[in-house]
Amino acid sequence: MTRHDDHTNENRFATVAVGAAETGMHLHRGGTNDVVPPIHLSTTFEWASGEEANEHDYSRESNPTRAALEEQLARLEGGEHGLTFASGMAATSTTMLALVSPGGHIVSSDSIYSGTEKLLTELAAGHFDINVDFVDARDPENIAAAVDSDTDLIWVETPSNPLIRLCDIQAISDIADAHDAQFGVDSTFASPYFQAPLELGADVVIHSTTKYLNGHSDSIGGAVITDDGEAFEQLAFAQQVGLGNMLSPFDCYLVARGTKTLPARMEHHEKNAMAVARFLESHERVDRVHYPGLESHPQHELASEQMSGYSGMLSFEFDGTLIELEAFIEELEVFTPGASLGGVESLVEVPSLMIPDEFSRGEATAEIPETLVRVSVGLEDAEDLCKDLRTALP
Ligand SMILES: *Cc1c(COP(=O)(O)O)cnc(C)c1O
Repeated sequence: MTRHDDHTNENRFATVAVGAAETGMHLHRGGTNDVVPPIHLSTTFEWASGEEANEHDYSRESNPTRAALEEQLARLEGGEHGLTFASGMAATSTTMLALVSPGGHIVSSDSIYSGTEKLLTELAAGHFDINVDFVDARDPENIAAAVDSDTDLIWVETPSNPLIRLCDIQAISDIADAHDAQFGVDSTFASPYFQAPLELGADVVIHSTTKYLNGHSDSIGGAVITDDGEAFEQLAFAQQVGLGNMLSPFDCYLVARGTKTLPARMEHHEKNAMAVARFLESHERVDRVHYPGLESHPQHELASEQMSGYSGMLSFEFDGTLIELEAFIEELEVFTPGASLGGVESLVEVPSLMIPDEFSRGEATAEIPETLVRVSVGLEDAEDLCKDLRTALP
């Protein structure tokens, strides 16, 4: 599968990711001819004159290391503008705050990251008096039925965390357009390598860069990319002036470094995930495997059309008791039990055992089966991964 052959950039994805398309501006900044954009820690920049700032003034508002990363991420998403935030949640909350007015209306998929659910139910609805409707977004008709002329924002996550459900970005973008609503897509699970929501009609795309973009489990961050100039102005104001929740120069450096190997890593994540998904599907103590690359995934066809690969995230339903499931997790040696995903190391998480009660999902969103196991398939040897599961499963 080759995506980005018709990419609007002159260069294709892997070339852009490595950075060969970067303008000389960043490579030669400071006259030292760095091949790697340096980490600019300065909080403040000398003014050109008493009344005229240079390109950068104060690092909350703009910083050269951050500007280089934001430009790089925008190019990778095929978008005009990029902004990077202190976390994926900062990117999400800033987007909602900037694009939805108090007392406004959000229609959200009912299959979303637990933090986003809490943001919508506790903060948006609880503090900002925003009406939030959750719907099963696998069927765009459900979105269409919930949207009205007062809707400010439609929000989806595809593939979703942790149920690996998809929604049809193009179909939902048509609904958003017809109602003059903004349409946001959390594309964290796919990464920009396997999915291009802006090309399919989304208005804003968000990523937790903590996951695949950084890819090495050593930086918390988030990004928003948009083609909409007005939305960008609102988002940039919120990020730089009102909230000040931008990504630090050191984290920008880490994410920029991770981004260079995104294509190579994603290809490998996908290959390993397919091997693990097929192994799990054949195991008698596994009830159901949720991986869009499997023909058994109810939305396999949509995945094949909308994504250029199936990524490295899957979940499965263990056939047994919670006690047996806990024993299985403890037996694993290559997989590490832990939160987060998208790094080079394989991780497993059992939401019913590992997510504290205060973050567990409310009734408005899709139910997570008690024995669901979320797997972030890393870059280890696929045979070792399958062997580890085979040995640990009862
Ligand atoms: C992790 C995650 C987030 C939140 O990102 P943080 O960097 O942890 O704040 C949002 N959406 C999805 C799909 C995620 O997996």
